[in-house]
Amino acid sequence: MLPANLREDFPLLTRTVRNGKPLVYLDSGATAQKPRVVLDAERDFYEAHNAAVQRGAHLLAEEATELFEGARADVAAFVGAQAEEIVWTENATAAINLVASGMGNASAGIGGDESARFRLGPGDEICVTETEHHANLVPWQALATRTGATLRWLPVDDEGRMILDDLDQLVTERTRVLAFTHVSNVTGLISPVQTLVERAKAVGAFTVLDGCQSVPHLPVDVRALDIDFMAMSAHKMLGPTGIGALYGRKELLDALPPSIFGGGAVKVVTMEETSWQEAPMRFEAGSQPVAQIVGMGAAARYLGGLGMAEVEAHERHIAAIMREGVAQIPGVRLLGPIGDENARDVIGLATVVVDGVHPHDVGQVLDDAGIAVRVGHHCNQPLHRRFGVTGSTRASAHVYTTEDDARAFIEALATVPAFFGVSS
Ligand code: PLP
Repeated sequence: MLPANLREDFPLLTRTVRNGKPLVYLDSGATAQKPRVVLDAERDFYEAHNAAVQRGAHLLAEEATELFEGARADVAAFVGAQAEEIVWTENATAAINLVASGMGNASAGIGGDESARFRLGPGDEICVTETEHHANLVPWQALATRTGATLRWLPVDDEGRMILDDLDQLVTERTRVLAFTHVSNVTGLISPVQTLVERAKAVGAFTVLDGCQSVPHLPVDVRALDIDFMAMSAHKMLGPTGIGALYGRKELLDALPPSIFGGGAVKVVTMEETSWQEAPMRFEAGSQPVAQIVGMGAAARYLGGLGMAEVEAHERHIAAIMREGVAQIPGVRLLGPIGDENARDVIGLATVVVDGVHPHDVGQVLDDAGIAVRVGHHCNQPLHRRFGVTGSTRASAHVYTTEDDARAFIEALATVPAFFGVSS
């Protein structure tokens, strides 16, 4: 069980919104609210320790560096990694781009022989899935265009589950990268990571996991998952915006060429050439957002303190209330698995389509009731196309979401078909 008074940790949750209604925040899949420990960590950094990290000889610089590296250790411990396997990036999107661009740079000869194993060319293949957020699709399309490699993808069924029947035909000796999401941001489905990783390893392909919707909501251990790279965003895990991280196996990170070039990431620079630091420094050129990094460390400690198994159990419970409620409303379709048995692999969200009503209109009715949800395609056009719709309405939970929040969503959603005169 999560602490009964947990909501008191989140100052924003006490505010009222449209029509003076109390806020029901069900948009945590887009960005989560922040507990006071995260806000305090950032403020304390600026008020008491602010300095440039890693390059000063004075006390403040030493303290700032300790906080900066301490946060790295905390985020690493949170996902079962070593500190030097965590690279700071702007967000999860930047983390995935770091890997894809690094491979593109290797293919262009940057990084020399040390980076040769990341080179791609015509005849090579990159495999993704039909359920990917654009952040884990577009960078691979670009890499394919840059290198002449071919992009392939695992299809999904009517519920959004990856179809694994043709896995061995899709992921073959030609496959160099298998990139897939851990949890879908539309259906909430947890991917069959073990099956995919085993197949990738059997053919020698690198695995890139999009952990954006899993790391904030369930226990994630990169060693147990046995993946090569994983992307995450702080703002979805109760941390600040503007910061995220890439996990990578150390020996791979030490060989992958950077894609942002500049100071701080280098060993020796001459007018002709440059040698880079080892990971993670080689990827952290330029000044880093230290306060946000410190905030991300605080968020990881806060979630770790709650216990991720407890977090997952809570969010599954909330999602079950929302999903069961949606199933009772005529004219409203749930995207993803339906029913107890099928919903086993789904975590904290319910994404719906109201027949005959545009998602923006659904969102407006909910907003009038003080309920904040996400509407549109959620940066996932291919999956919506697969479901035969252009957009949907997503209610997503986090640690602070209550049963009352879930019921308020169902109650307001049930009024939508009649409001727009489309009830059957
Ligand atoms: N991957 C998934 C599954 C997501 O849900 C998101 C954000 O919605 C992203 C990647 C991109 O995250 P960010 O915008 O923080 O880079």
